[in-house]
Amino acid sequence: MKGSRRDRAVFVGAASSYFVKAIVLFGSPGSGKGTQAKMLTQCLMVPHISTGDMLRGRIRSGSESETGMVATMQLGALVPDLVVNEMVKERLSEADAARGFILDGYPRTLDQAGHLSEWLAGRGIHEVVIHLAVDYNVIIARLTGRRQCPRCGTLYNVSSHPPRVAGVCDLDGEELVVRDDDSEAVIRGRLDAYDRQTRPVLEYFRASGHRMVEVDASCDPPETLHRKICQMMESA
Ligand SMILES: [Zn+2]
Repeated sequence: MKGSRRDRAVFVGAASSYFVKAIVLFGSPGSGKGTQAKMLTQCLMVPHISTGDMLRGRIRSGSESETGMVATMQLGALVPDLVVNEMVKERLSEADAARGFILDGYPRTLDQAGHLSEWLAGRGIHEVVIHLAVDYNVIIARLTGRRQCPRCGTLYNVSSHPPRVAGVCDLDGEELVVRDDDSEAVIRGRLDAYDRQTRPVLEYFRASGHRMVEVDASCDPPETLHRKICQMMESA
């Protein structure tokens, strides 16, 4: 699991800038982005920097007292670019990120993407963009197959983890239900929202000639997906 620096040839090639393992990670809902971020962190030995976690942490610790920001986050809307840009620059300037990082949840807008690229380029760092994309139909089939027992909370899946008797909880015989979150309309809505927000940012990275690793994350188990990503990074 723990890869030596030599294993990640793409980062130690002729250009010294690739020595810094700068990764910008994107992942559709259902792509297992959190798991992949964790695995990459372990094999590349760089920190996982999630802007979502950072913002939540700041709000908890009260270091960002602007109630506006709290309200914005609660609404699930975007925190102003200026605030996030500054926060990320500060974080990337910390010692543990000097050898690289996995950036997650940022950039979310074109303004943020331009800001990040410019800032990294100014330091001779060329980021690699990893996109974990999913096949909508596969994800919808998987998520809409989920069933839950309303009494004990046990989760099932009609295809991958069915109960012994169809539609009935193994533990207490209660009739299983589909949770509101798992309805096709809700899932489609989340995937569409992700697509709308992410597509222009990915286009920006593509058009500006950045290294892109795009991988289908619909089906493979996490370890297989991780190996694929590493291989693609090496041959990118
Ligand atoms: Zn039950």
